[in-house]
Amino acid sequence: MPVRGVLVRLTDAWQDILARRAGNTQTGAYPTPVRQLLGEMAAASVLMQANIKFNGALILQISGDGPFKLGVVEVQPDLSLRATASLVAEVPEDARLSDMLNQHGQGRCAITLDPKDRLPGQQPYQGVVPLSDAQGQPLAQLSDILERYMLQSEQLDTVLVLAADDQVAAGLLIQRLPVQGQANLAGQASAGEVVDHDEDFRRIGLLAHSLKREELLGLDAATVLHRLFWEEPLARFEPLQGDQGPRFACRCNRERVSNMLRGLGQDEAEAILAEQGQIEIGCDFCGAQYRFDAVDAAGLFKPVAPNAGEPGARH
Ligand SMILES: [Zn+2]
Repeated sequence: MPVRGVLVRLTDAWQDILARRAGNTQTGAYPTPVRQLLGEMAAASVLMQANIKFNGALILQISGDGPFKLGVVEVQPDLSLRATASLVAEVPEDARLSDMLNQHGQGRCAITLDPKDRLPGQQPYQGVVPLSDAQGQPLAQLSDILERYMLQSEQLDTVLVLAADDQVAAGLLIQRLPVQGQANLAGQASAGEVVDHDEDFRRIGLLAHSLKREELLGLDAATVLHRLFWEEPLARFEPLQGDQGPRFACRCNRERVSNMLRGLGQDEAEAILAEQGQIEIGCDFCGAQYRFDAVDAAGLFKPVAPNAGEPGARH
């Protein structure tokens, strides 16, 4: 059957992301509804990256017009990931997705594919969908939003089931694969028989949708697959775990932060130094703090002597 699935269970990686936020004295831990949504975003991003096997970063962003301003998850081709959310007001314990992000219909979900070997001037590919349906009604679940995105941008029927709590962020993706030409279909059927792949996908999608939140969070992959698909011919691949699997990793470093400061400009940097004595920049993803005193800052804006050995030194 031209149906493919991916199942993900983030444990250590997800707990690491939550612990870093909880350890940030300026922000404190995420409120419960934010933890759930960001966890679902993390699971969905890993599913999508694993599904398309894109040679570059997949970045899922949700921006809103409520207390949840921006959520970002970035997954690299090796499945290392990082995630963060910025909040601008209190999030009530019982807040729904639309309360947090889509109070006035301005919420957006963007998926960016940023190729690793991007040429100068080449833009990353980005698709954007609203957090409401075609009639303008707010969508209740992240899975609804992403299913719509998949259908619009990839023209692929997709079923997504997502769930997250404090320990686990998990998800199941089921996708109908494109079938090339009728000859292919006929070749799989015995004489006179018509294979209805729509029916196969519908049945497997319905089975996937029957998966309960507690099952997805609490059961291991083998048990989930057996419960849902024990009557289906199932070809399982080796799970990607440990160094091969999803894990937390931040890509921030002092050089990137220095480049950001250079982008800000010398005047701005000196204004911050005059006011605060030093420039302090924290990474939202991992919590690392980068400090620049007056001497460091002066070094940032020194003209660089041309060096033939360095890439980019020719211009
Ligand atoms: Zn970082």
